[in-house]
Amino acid sequence: MTFEQLGLCPPLLKALAAEGYTTPTPIQLQAIPHAMSGRDVQGIAQTGTGKTAAFALPILHRLAANPRHAGPGGCRVLVLSPTRELASQIADSFRAYGKFMKLTSTVMFGGVPKGRQARAMAGGVDVLVATPGRLMDHMQDRTVRLDSVEILVLDEADHMLDLGFIVPIRRIVTTIPKNRQTLFFSATMPSEIGGLAGAMLKDPAHVAVTPVATTAERVEQHVIMLETSKKRAVLFDLLMGPAKGRTLVFTRTKHGADRVVRYLEESGLPAAAIHGNKSQGQRERALSDFRSGKCRVLIATDIAARGIDVDGVTHVINYDLPNVPESYVHRIGRTARAGATGVAISLCDGEERAFLRNIEKLIRAKVPTMTPPGQAPIETRAKAA
Ligand code: AMP
Repeated sequence: MTFEQLGLCPPLLKALAAEGYTTPTPIQLQAIPHAMSGRDVQGIAQTGTGKTAAFALPILHRLAANPRHAGPGGCRVLVLSPTRELASQIADSFRAYGKFMKLTSTVMFGGVPKGRQARAMAGGVDVLVATPGRLMDHMQDRTVRLDSVEILVLDEADHMLDLGFIVPIRRIVTTIPKNRQTLFFSATMPSEIGGLAGAMLKDPAHVAVTPVATTAERVEQHVIMLETSKKRAVLFDLLMGPAKGRTLVFTRTKHGADRVVRYLEESGLPAAAIHGNKSQGQRERALSDFRSGKCRVLIATDIAARGIDVDGVTHVINYDLPNVPESYVHRIGRTARAGATGVAISLCDGEERAFLRNIEKLIRAKVPTMTPPGQAPIETRAKAA
């Protein structure tokens, strides 16, 4: 099945060719026909499956088929996203896929002044991508109106729940016309999310791809058992040897991330960190340096890494193992995106063995142990002695 066969309009096909996409991913194949027909969709899909295009393409197709003006402060499509990084990426995707169409879009999130966002909305736009908190601010200021929304997208609903956005979302939804189309995406469907979906969707088509355990199957995984004090040196050796490519390193805490950056920089290896204590500008710079290859090592915490979209990550290193086993699957899924394969290496000290056991239970597989680089396997060393 090709994008042509899905019936997308020529300007979209041209943009997809420019992006280098040749075949739709499974979530795109499942969701696009329903969304194009105007039906509500409830999708279970994680980042990395191509879910952004799964909603952006049919939306752009429908907007172009029926051009209309949303009116001052209004929008025809509202996409709600939990984080600013994800919101920016979604807006970038709309721009990339819609680049041969005459459609307008804008993005709004907290942490930056509201004035420019309000000005961007003044004449109305086709697509507004927003985080819930900042959108509520603009609604209170009366710089945004939602009475002309035709299509509503809720992305990463489970993450919205983690961040406490469910109440604002319910409030926002009450101001949107009921005869809209709604597309609802979440990586998991805990009962609270199921309830929210039930309240927002009308007779939805259900689509789902790659349950958490199968994402892990595409990634080559290793674990190095070691003492905590050895982690820094082993990380450095990994980055100079087996993990020479574009590498994402995960730490459990923000301070941990900063400490790792400092150590690597002192050892002569440029690295950058993204986490909640960094300013928007710092995060954007770190991401763009990582994307451009100026800096091939990026240190991230779980929350900060959600929604970062970088292709070609060859290695994920878990400097600390996550205490939530699902986070392990999310982390290693940052490599092996859109069908590529990747390598994940975890550093596990004595205190983290219990975390490793829980991870192995979740992925239903044992993570093979690996000898740290530059060190002979234990048996060989014993023979040499
Ligand atoms: P997402 O799950 O939306 O974060 O997308 C994951 C990555 O896959 C993004 O970098 C997209 O640019 C890329 N992608 C999405 N759809 C396709 C496709 N059909 N072919 C190749 N790459 C794609």
